[in-house]
Amino acid sequence: MTDYISLSVLNDFVFCPYSIYLHQVYMEADEDLYKATPQTQGSIAHQPVDSKTASSRKSNLMSLPVYSEVLGITGKIDIFKQDTGKLIERKYCLKQIFRGHYYQLWGQYFCMTEMGYAVNELAFYEICSNTMIPVALPGKAEREEMERFIQRIRAFDPSHDIFSINANKCRHCIYCNLCDKTEVDNVYT
Ligand code: SF4
Repeated sequence: MTDYISLSVLNDFVFCPYSIYLHQVYMEADEDLYKATPQTQGSIAHQPVDSKTASSRKSNLMSLPVYSEVLGITGKIDIFKQDTGKLIERKYCLKQIFRGHYYQLWGQYFCMTEMGYAVNELAFYEICSNTMIPVALPGKAEREEMERFIQRIRAFDPSHDIFSINANKCRHCIYCNLCDKTEVDNVYT
């Protein structure tokens, strides 16, 4: 049976592979132990979608569970506009769009197309600036990049694999104060 990878892991793994391991260790713990400002903002960004109040249009699908058997990934989309085929991922503030953000959105796209939905457009919606940011549909090269990336996640071994530790990332990481790989302090505490 396929061990499905969560769509949110795609972004987190790009940020730091070790954070995936820490997430598994601490996911049962009290969220107050590690939940920091960006994650709180992220939760706020998804609240209207999760409660299906982000749009009153009946043709808009919100918080729809999706999966790809072929890629072995699963998660939820934010909003899919069935009338135009536009798939939108809401973010609280996107100062910079990282590869992990694209992987998350591409992952949603690949799940939806495999499930039979006609997705014609992709976009991020930045809540803090009320801005829609169009994203190109992934092609063959992006699909192959995604497949290689998912293989890397599956093969990652936190006890043996070497990964770069970036103090600046650590300062902004929710697991900073619990992580044995760094001595820096989290900026949110
Ligand atoms: S604190 Fe640093 S090394 Fe530890 S999980 Fe976070 S980003 Fe990775």
